[in-house]
Amino acid sequence: MHSVEQVPKLTVIAPATGQLIAEIEETRIHEVPLFYQRGRNAFAAWSCISIPDRLRYFRKLKQLMVDEMDQIARIISDDTGKVLTEAIVADIMPTLDAIDHIIRHAEKVLSRQKAKTPFLLIGKKSYIEYMSRGVVLVISPWNYPLQLAMVPMVSALAGGNSVILKPSEVTPLVGKCIEDLFNRSGFPEGTVQVAHGGKEVGAAFTEGKPDYIFFTGSVRTGKIIQQQAARDLIPTTLELGGKDPMIVFKDANLERAAKAAAWGAFTNSGQVCMSAERLYVERSISDEFLELLKSEVRNLTQGSDENADVGSMTFPAQKDIVKAQLEEALARGAKLETGLEPVNWQEGMFLPLTVVTHVEQDMKIIQEETFGPLLPVVHFDTEDEAVTLANGTVFGLNASVWTKDKEKARRVASRLVSGAVVINDVIITVANHGLPFGGTKDSGIGRYHAEGGLRIFCHEKAIMEDLGLMNSEIQWYPYKGKYPLFLKLFKNYFGEKRNWLSFAKDYLALLKIK
Ligand code: NAD
Repeated sequence: MHSVEQVPKLTVIAPATGQLIAEIEETRIHEVPLFYQRGRNAFAAWSCISIPDRLRYFRKLKQLMVDEMDQIARIISDDTGKVLTEAIVADIMPTLDAIDHIIRHAEKVLSRQKAKTPFLLIGKKSYIEYMSRGVVLVISPWNYPLQLAMVPMVSALAGGNSVILKPSEVTPLVGKCIEDLFNRSGFPEGTVQVAHGGKEVGAAFTEGKPDYIFFTGSVRTGKIIQQQAARDLIPTTLELGGKDPMIVFKDANLERAAKAAAWGAFTNSGQVCMSAERLYVERSISDEFLELLKSEVRNLTQGSDENADVGSMTFPAQKDIVKAQLEEALARGAKLETGLEPVNWQEGMFLPLTVVTHVEQDMKIIQEETFGPLLPVVHFDTEDEAVTLANGTVFGLNASVWTKDKEKARRVASRLVSGAVVINDVIITVANHGLPFGGTKDSGIGRYHAEGGLRIFCHEKAIMEDLGLMNSEIQWYPYKGKYPLFLKLFKNYFGEKRNWLSFAKDYLALLKIK
């Protein structure tokens, strides 16, 4: 009798309702080599087809997503607890825009580029080529489960790589949806594979020697992945956490800034790597601003219907982090301006939208990523103080500066140690696929989006071309008699006043030595 192997399953509980909505088969660890084998076989063919031919599949994928936009939004919403509007605006739209951008720009960005050849290398031509890397492993988180998986995937695919995605086990339904979308777009077998499971599955794929790892997630996991990548010399991009400051000067449009603070802090229930996690307000307007902010927050509705503003939390464990940070702050004298003390929180995944004041710079609520609907407000007196406070954490992903003084805004933006800064708006740089995206300090290593976001998935290859007509080169053997001539040639060439006649004479003299 044969025993039937039990396939482990991921259970999908809708966070907003607590209902079991699906079960998804996990990838087993022993299948990992098979994934890589299929990926490598597919790579051999996919990397050889032209970019326009690759992009035909992208067009099918885009159209399929346009046709099924509502169904995809509902899957995202069920799986994460986010409201439908946020599923479509902040997860589906950026994915479609990235695909669109790639369709329009990939051929130009990834084709052979001419490079300058210095005069000293007379007679040669120089180029840069972009050569596909191989099998790219994408590991993604749960907060924007569609775009944070699909954007790196399509970027890697455009460059001729095959892709293995390991989506978050917290939102496996979206992982399944992505797998299905690529399958139905007709991508050749093995070009795109999706492995379902948790951190053990992620670790097994990381150890499976991919040619590149694109990771989005926590700093903790990012460091584990980078260690494994270092062992095998695998290049990586790490998109990690954030603790983004929002700086409001007294001359800002306060009404707009208050609306932005409410949205920037509470969109996606605050589970955004680029959400406004710290609010710094100039002291002279702090009372007025706090009142505006509180009235914005009080107007927000929480729920899961189509008109709700704020959905539920996605990941149960995240609630504990938010709670612990708030408890520490309250115990040390912080004051609740909106929301409830954690002892009064209700069961379930909807957390009160919380604004706190009387907060110290060394509290967890200021120093550690919260990833929940909790906004600490701090006052400052000078521009220098605001910059110092804003730069005073280990993170540096995004930030925003609010003032009508353009010069001040640009000056402060330049002084912030951050991968992106928005002036008089929040978060929005991520929606412009033409801008690079990534963090400084513990927020990550590397960038994607824009031209660089396609080229990271390729080896940059330097090519120089000589017609091969001359029998020798001046720097080749024999060296006899060349040193004094080179000395003269280089002193003249690199000196302040170049003498071209003397250069030509020395160059010809060098050529004659055979
Ligand atoms: P996480 O690090 O717990 O998990 C991310 C992914 O890594 C998941 O797919 C998980 O299964 C996998 N994983 C976990 N341990 C692993 C291991 N040892 N080896 C290989 N894979 C492993 O992060 P999360 O909780 O899913 O996401 C939230 C975090 O992501 C937050 O810190 C947030 O700031 C960050 N984030 C960053 C960005 C960005 O672009 N910078 C965007 C969104 C989220």
